[in-house]
Amino acid sequence: MFNRVIQKPGLYDIIRQVDGKLSIGRFQNLPDMSVNSSICPTAAFLGPHADNHNILTELANEVLASIVDFRTGIWEGPSLYEDKEHKQSVQDLKHRFKGLLAYLEEHSTPFSSLRYLAHMTGDQLLPALAAYYAGMIYNSNNVTIQASTATTLLEMLTMRDLCDMVGFTRRPMFFDETSGIPDHMADPWAHITSDGSIANIEAVWSARESKLLPFAALEALTHNPDLKKAANLKVLTCDQRKVKLVDAEPWELWNLTRDERLLIPFHIAKLLGLKMEDTYQIWEILTHYDINAKGWQGFSQYFYDHQWPIVLIPSTAHYSWPKSVAVMGLGTGNAQNVMVDEIGRMNLSELRHKLDHALRNKQPILMTVSVFGSTEESAVDPLKGIISLRDEYRLKGLDFDIHVDAAWGGYFISTIRKEFKMEEVPNSMEGVNSLSCHSPFLDDTRQVLLNDYVVDQAKEICQADSITIDPHKMGYVQYPAGTILYKNGDVINLTTFTGTYIGSATDPTVGLFGLEGSRPGAAAAAVYFTHACLRPDYKGYGEVITRSLYNAKQFYAELLFIGHQDQFKTALLMPFDPSNYELVRDKILRKGLDEIRQDEEAMPVFRKLGPDQNIIDYGFNPIHHGVLNNKVDIYNQFTKKVYDKLRIKYDEEGRSQKNTQNQPELMLSMTTFMKKDYGDEFMKSFANQLGLTDTPIPDELNCLRSTIMSPFTSDIKELQHRGSYWPTLMTALADNVAMLVNA
Ligand SMILES: *Cc1c(COP(=O)(O)O)cnc(C)c1O
Repeated sequence: MFNRVIQKPGLYDIIRQVDGKLSIGRFQNLPDMSVNSSICPTAAFLGPHADNHNILTELANEVLASIVDFRTGIWEGPSLYEDKEHKQSVQDLKHRFKGLLAYLEEHSTPFSSLRYLAHMTGDQLLPALAAYYAGMIYNSNNVTIQASTATTLLEMLTMRDLCDMVGFTRRPMFFDETSGIPDHMADPWAHITSDGSIANIEAVWSARESKLLPFAALEALTHNPDLKKAANLKVLTCDQRKVKLVDAEPWELWNLTRDERLLIPFHIAKLLGLKMEDTYQIWEILTHYDINAKGWQGFSQYFYDHQWPIVLIPSTAHYSWPKSVAVMGLGTGNAQNVMVDEIGRMNLSELRHKLDHALRNKQPILMTVSVFGSTEESAVDPLKGIISLRDEYRLKGLDFDIHVDAAWGGYFISTIRKEFKMEEVPNSMEGVNSLSCHSPFLDDTRQVLLNDYVVDQAKEICQADSITIDPHKMGYVQYPAGTILYKNGDVINLTTFTGTYIGSATDPTVGLFGLEGSRPGAAAAAVYFTHACLRPDYKGYGEVITRSLYNAKQFYAELLFIGHQDQFKTALLMPFDPSNYELVRDKILRKGLDEIRQDEEAMPVFRKLGPDQNIIDYGFNPIHHGVLNNKVDIYNQFTKKVYDKLRIKYDEEGRSQKNTQNQPELMLSMTTFMKKDYGDEFMKSFANQLGLTDTPIPDELNCLRSTIMSPFTSDIKELQHRGSYWPTLMTALADNVAMLVNA
């Protein structure tokens, strides 16, 4: 019916160079990503006015020519028969298709427009579109290599590439002097998921399975006579003591580090005298005792006073986190909020408080989530601080996994990534050990637009146990394309369920591990080809993303100087240092990126300007007859009005106003911050910015939200227009807001 364990070849062993060419397993002549340079941003997108449509047409025609070749080039056989009925049907098909296209044209949201300053969706990359179309028509299913002989390999290549982007390369192994056992066994592993939510659910699943693995081993050692010889198995507690697993306190077992937990099957194999490569037999035995097999009730005796494991998330976390915890059977109440500071970053003293509470009550912590680019604010959590807190609490006997949710912001890492090619990453362990002193990131980041704090957190992401990165967010790839990355790839032994017909996995495979079954090989083709055209380093993706960040910062600066300031007060969630007012006006506002970069005074200020990434949150508080509004309700209603004016609506007949006289001049999105989630500090700071000062801290505050994804808004001379588009957009915004104040 189903199998749980397969012997899997690792990403790093299986991808190699043979005679200067890339190969995976026995598959040779793979396309590689060793390109010398990335394509430039203006050639990378279809463009706001479909500027590059000729290129897309050409690429799409080539896809069709290729599929015709492919289908006619294999076997001979009868052709379809074109009779009268066939001809009529073709007419019908074309007619109905026109109907679908007309519908899509009327009702779709114009994400690629420079006037779209709203949700986290923008133009898509041309290479992604073309490669997805190709992969889609070739129609492979990346669940098993038997059905996806081409695209499985592309997924493996690209996932190793993504691991390399974040710095998840092979880790050097450290061996225990007496036992000769290494500190970890497996290399990183990654695969594509349909989205970030699935990746996050899988992250909680793998954390749950690995957290309970020591108890599964304990049950197996106690009940399975085949494992008798391993009864003396010792494990290393997180505060560095060796204890016998069968005699350990449950609290000690709850707090083994992830590497230590995942070594247990190897320890057992060694004690039984098995060869290293036969460790999978032990994994197989343990699958009969683990939480996948037994459910939570199988482990109730190991809880202290009904203290269920919790997951700690910042209050800015995406709603997929409570969902993940719900799916894992923990209950949403066990996804516990850690409050954020006034700019939306996790508050470390709140985290410390939660850790102390867990330690006192012997409440296990499955994982702490650190967000790299929150969905509402693009805020970056202090990962470096979270890691040092974990080091500190390990010495007190408390351990937890760390997951980085970089669904939105993962690709920002490319802006600090040195150039790299696939073949430069060593396969041999000697190569790895010599690499360990080499940083994958730029040494000098003074020209990088991310601020120093964000750069510091980005460099630490490779310390996490798992990471979510969505190519379909800041990777500008169309849906669906999420990914999950694991530092210790052995964890996927715990999340594998496969049908017997799927076949053995001595061949390369990616589709068996995780939540999904059938998966589009097209997504792998799209992400692969995009990485081949735009390398995930500072010159490829980094260049596109830098331009988007430059535009986000320009929008932030524009908001400081927006017109009609006598009619409303503008508040920015990310506060501004007023002493820089003149410098921003004279040396940053509407200045070119190169000019700012060359200005030694402006550049450090520009780097710090605005939020951590490219989502700008702001509000307008009306001034009536010279008096600033001081009522929270009035502000909230006003913000709702602004939002309603500046989004696509439908008229009385249900027609989209996009195509009528009333189309909005630009589009924004709106969000609402709640005190119960965000805490006092955050709410108070934003209320102050708005000038809502002598009221109690509001329970709710509406906020306008603009995700700036376009690399072109400030500088579109290569496309149809010349110069910056911000003046047009800002005049429209200011006029609309002022009009509503006076309405
Ligand atoms: C978008 C997002 C998710 C969820 O990803 P989907 O691909 O939309 O499922 C999770 N976390 C963060 C921070 C996000 O921005």
